[in-house]
Amino acid sequence: MKKQSDLSKLFSYAGSFRYLTISSWVLSAISALVALLPFIYIWKIIKEVLDVAPDYGAAQNLAHNGWMAVLLAILSMLIYVGALMCSHVAAFRVASNIQSRAMHHIVTLPLGFMDSFGSGKLRKIVNESSAATENYLAHQLPDRAGAVATPAGMLALLLVFDWRLGLLSLIPIVLAFILMITMTGVKMRTKMKEYQDSLALMSNEAVEYVRGIPVVKTFGQSVFSFKRFKASIDSYEKWVVSYTKQLRLPMMFYTTIINAVFAVLIAAALIMTRNGVDNVFLINLLFYIIFTPIITVTLTKIMFSSENKMIVADALERIDSVMTLKPLSESDRPVSPEDNSVELRNVSFRYQNAKQNALNHVSMRINAGEHVALVGPSGGGKTTLANVIARFWDIDGGEILIGGINVKDIPKEELMNTVSFVFQDSKLLKASILENVRMAKPDATREEVIKALEAAQCADIIEKMPYGIDTVIGTKGVYLSGGEQQRIAIARVMLKSTPIIILDEATAFADPDNEYKVQTAFTALSKGKTVIMIAHRLSTVAGSDRIFVLKDGQIAECGRHEQLVGKDGLYTHMWKEYACAAKWKVGAGNELA
Ligand code: ADP
Repeated sequence: MKKQSDLSKLFSYAGSFRYLTISSWVLSAISALVALLPFIYIWKIIKEVLDVAPDYGAAQNLAHNGWMAVLLAILSMLIYVGALMCSHVAAFRVASNIQSRAMHHIVTLPLGFMDSFGSGKLRKIVNESSAATENYLAHQLPDRAGAVATPAGMLALLLVFDWRLGLLSLIPIVLAFILMITMTGVKMRTKMKEYQDSLALMSNEAVEYVRGIPVVKTFGQSVFSFKRFKASIDSYEKWVVSYTKQLRLPMMFYTTIINAVFAVLIAAALIMTRNGVDNVFLINLLFYIIFTPIITVTLTKIMFSSENKMIVADALERIDSVMTLKPLSESDRPVSPEDNSVELRNVSFRYQNAKQNALNHVSMRINAGEHVALVGPSGGGKTTLANVIARFWDIDGGEILIGGINVKDIPKEELMNTVSFVFQDSKLLKASILENVRMAKPDATREEVIKALEAAQCADIIEKMPYGIDTVIGTKGVYLSGGEQQRIAIARVMLKSTPIIILDEATAFADPDNEYKVQTAFTALSKGKTVIMIAHRLSTVAGSDRIFVLKDGQIAECGRHEQLVGKDGLYTHMWKEYACAAKWKVGAGNELA
């Protein structure tokens, strides 16, 4: 398949706005050509002055030519403004189209993708990569059109004035182009990618570092314990130094050449006028010397647009890395679940790039209304199992049925209205408590929200808030503990009232009061529902209808607490350990008392 060029990729985001982009190039080229005309009038002025010298009063056309030069310069500027207006409108449209298309695509992806990709990285790709295209389309491309038109116009002027001097002033341009190609070739393109990669790595590590500061402080470690962060800075430094060194010579020559066109002209003129000067030659020489700054400006513009081209190519590649991710398939013959049971048939699943399956041929049936708990050692597959039921990921083998229907055949919306999740770290938005809860059911009344909050044991939270349920979470002075946040998240799920609920129990609570309230809220939420609870502590599972013990992605044991605890298995072992730890806690409590 032929690789799509960056420009056609950008155009694919522009829609009919591509014509504005093209108009901006045409206008910019015209403006560049018109910008050359004032120099002709300046040449005329010099010529007239020299022709009539020393009787300067005889010069008739000075004012006319002067005005023409000024007017043409203004005209060129106005055309350029027109070009920029066209290019900006198109550029903003492209950037916003990239963002909206990326966002539309992201919502079709499996939910688990957010976790594995990292929301920070995703934000950077969607926001920064689209912004990178903006400058390129709005400024660099029209400037490039102008920059190409300028040498063409100069070639035409060669015929009008002295061809020898014209050719001489073209030599630095050719040299500059050759240098520019060496500086922006394929090799440099890979370098630019390395640069962007090491920059991304460094900022990722920086975030990890800031997040880890409490750990570093708690354990009295030094900053050097963040070896990865330091290594990423070192590698960035190494890269920047080698890149700069590599560009030093070509850049030095490039800058010298484009700024020294007039020096070449003067040297050549000295040689050409060994046998005396004639007026016409002098005038032409002056014309070219006045003209040289245009060459410098033009080449500088081209240079920057080349650098930006590499940044844009890289940005488009990053956008593509998101756009080519496979969306969650939608069934063409959608079916609704028949009841609220959940069944896994021989389910296997492996995370991308993982060496082992996270779930290995798991089969289980959870009847409608049953309350089951998933327990087992960390890494056993509890979270993965819960996630695949809600289709956060599509499984690699086997089938998952909800109400007798394969989850892949249930319309996404319906699946979301059938299964809901209470995560361990419930994410609340920076919005009022009311809005945070109402997210689950946008048409819910204020009373319904209040009822859900009460059932989720949130009355004490609302009471202490300055504006009750209208208090915005995350504003100054409004702080919610982990347990409180989880209760609000429970209210959210309570309002949604889906028949199947997956609970990820929190591993730690700041205080027993909070823990008690969360448990009460869980109980209220679970009433009459099919519940799958990921239990991290055994205290809560004894009352479950069934307990599944997961180890190495397989069900090691399954049954009620009384059945399991009698066997000599993993559960009994875990239970003994738990009972021992609980006794120890009580003992410690007594001692204190
Ligand atoms: P549990 O919830 O029982 O602690 P998990 O379901 O989180 O276990 O993990 C099961 C296995 O899958 C573990 O080996 C874990 O390392 C792996 N795993 C979990 N999440 C990911 C992920 N996003 N990418 C790769 N491997 C993962």
